[in-house]
Amino acid sequence: MKLPTIKISSNPQLSVDTVRIFLIEPNGFRDTAVEQIFPDHPGLKTLLKTATKNNKEETVKKYVNSYFEKNQQKIDSAVDEIKTSWAKIGERVLSTLAEIMNTDWQGIPTLTWDVGVVGMYPRFLDEKIFQTYYLQYPFQAIPTALHEITHFIYFKKWAELFPGDTKEMFEYPDPVWHLSELMAEAINSDERLRILIPDAEGHGHPIYRNVPFQKNKQDFSQYGYFAKKYLEFKKAGKSIDDFLKEAREEIKDIL
Ligand SMILES: [Zn+2]
Repeated sequence: MKLPTIKISSNPQLSVDTVRIFLIEPNGFRDTAVEQIFPDHPGLKTLLKTATKNNKEETVKKYVNSYFEKNQQKIDSAVDEIKTSWAKIGERVLSTLAEIMNTDWQGIPTLTWDVGVVGMYPRFLDEKIFQTYYLQYPFQAIPTALHEITHFIYFKKWAELFPGDTKEMFEYPDPVWHLSELMAEAINSDERLRILIPDAEGHGHPIYRNVPFQKNKQDFSQYGYFAKKYLEFKKAGKSIDDFLKEAREEIKDIL
């Protein structure tokens, strides 16, 4: 099977884009971004407070570029460490994901893994780019990357199964997006992946573990409900296709 090439690098402009998207433009993750970015970048917080609306992006650009200049060595060594760690498992991870998702990587020849300088982990489905954070250890960056890489093949599969679903449904706050977020964790806990990336188990958005599946069904969290259902499907020898078709019917009212 043809696997995508994973290009691991660190491009300052992509960190600028991430800050712009989460701290300047309207978006659903601003509070998280404030919590995850500013403690490591108090200088950026001060600069953005005083910047006018029109020069916010320019301010971010200058800040990020000077941050890169000051920390270039550390950033480069983070990229090198990730490359070394990923080289040991990357191809097996990609082929295992395809096996679990019951599809292939056709149409995704390349994924860009950007090692950014802010602690946000976006994925851009169209551009085939995702980001980790240079201050993560490889044992943290690799589970983050696995989660993001899973999104790419998950939505490829989803589009094959449900060709009528639009790309807008793959983004926050659509229920289809929520299911993709909680299922990334369940998929990443599959034994075939766990043996390659054991630290990925439990690596997901805690929100889905903190709310009950339904108000009147409090014996499972939203994550727990779908994780159990997925395990039952696997145990019965059913494919992920069947699982996703059934799961899709259950997400509409709950998330
Ligand atoms: Zn995600």
